[in-house]
Amino acid sequence: MALHFYNTLTRRVQDFEPLAEGKVGMYVCGPTVYNLAHIGNFRAYIFSDLLRRYLKYRGYEVFHVVNLTDVDDKTIRDSQAENIPLKDYTDRYKKAYFDDCDTLKIEPVEMYPAATDHIPDMVRTIERLTENGHTYVSDGSVYFKIDTFPSYGKFANLDVSGMRSGARILADEYEKEDARDFVLWKAWTPEDGPVFWETSLGKGRPGWHIECSSMSQKYLGETFDIHGGGVDLIFPHHQNEIAQAEGATGKPFVRYWIHCEHLLVEGQKMSKSAGNFYTLREILDKGYRPMEIRYILLATHYRQQLNFTFEGLKATRGALERLSDFVRNVRLADGQPAGEVLNKILGQRENEFVTSLDDDLNISPALGAVFNFVRDVGRLISDGKLAKDESSKVLDKLTAWNRVLGFMDFEEEALAEEEVARLIEKRTEAREKKNWAEADRLRKELEAQGILLEDRPKGTIWKRK
Ligand SMILES: [Zn+2]
Repeated sequence: MALHFYNTLTRRVQDFEPLAEGKVGMYVCGPTVYNLAHIGNFRAYIFSDLLRRYLKYRGYEVFHVVNLTDVDDKTIRDSQAENIPLKDYTDRYKKAYFDDCDTLKIEPVEMYPAATDHIPDMVRTIERLTENGHTYVSDGSVYFKIDTFPSYGKFANLDVSGMRSGARILADEYEKEDARDFVLWKAWTPEDGPVFWETSLGKGRPGWHIECSSMSQKYLGETFDIHGGGVDLIFPHHQNEIAQAEGATGKPFVRYWIHCEHLLVEGQKMSKSAGNFYTLREILDKGYRPMEIRYILLATHYRQQLNFTFEGLKATRGALERLSDFVRNVRLADGQPAGEVLNKILGQRENEFVTSLDDDLNISPALGAVFNFVRDVGRLISDGKLAKDESSKVLDKLTAWNRVLGFMDFEEEALAEEEVARLIEKRTEAREKKNWAEADRLRKELEAQGILLEDRPKGTIWKRK
């Protein structure tokens, strides 16, 4: 079976067939740059990173757009609270977002359009909506009239038929029960201070939802393949994106909508008041490693709620260490050729890996394939059956899988090994000079790093504690 995903639009699993063969246009709602992203945000970002990486693994050329919301109710409110210009304020959190993504090895995407760089595009979309009869003006602000878009609500399984016609909402964020005409362009008010644009729609600023319709279509076309985001965005944000985009063009907007479930912390909805709200940096400050966090955020299927626990996070260390130990053993392998046995293992586990991820990114059996591979090849090695020239085949396979998973840090591993080798060499020199005190000091230094030495007639070998 081919690659298939659950499509929120049709509420069923569908084979994935992009518009243009071999190419995928994908848009994912990015950060509102008004604070540090929390781990719930990163769950969604890691999910779209997995999706992107897997599409590439399957041979697609991916053009992936992530927007930066740098003007909205929250960015204006918080920059004013600090009394600094909006741009200076949002630049700080743009940088933090990119730094955090880098820490978690989230691949950079092809384009990061910022809302404030696209005001004319949004104005044009709103003008088109007006030409098509979808808007009205109230107190200088432009609203989308939802009863002009008959399928409004359908995407979110929401019945809006009983809604009072003409009821409006000015806020960027609201709940399902507040479904009503939403704002496209907000007339300037004194609370906005210096934040406004003079446009054909008057003096004001865009509502939040319009940026994603305008910028996604600008870079990916009026109809494109995949739109992703967290489930919390289905309503109102994505419903409004659909109404705006399709209202402006009269064409279908997105073909596959893929949504990632919520993250819970210790079984509870994350919130500042419950004391279980964590930014990435707060977790790193507790001594956890970036790849442990990446692993735990990746290892639960994206359509299931992920219960993030510190117990679970601790357990990832063992899994990652098994992988590093394995890589080291493979690099040192110098046994008899495994031949066909190895080819069979490689073929079988690759097949499991791809079949699992093809199935709506079913991550658990894909990780199972990786760890079964580690077990199978580990057995070969302990039976003395992996030749030097076969180890590269094994490492190539892991490297290929890691292009999808991203949590194996081969570089760091190699560096750590170089450092260990350097210290062992120094110790050998010290022993040759009968400088036992120095040799002992070096042994202790390595031991403090969790490295145990064993002196053998042919030289010193090492293992991790
Ligand atoms: Zn969006």
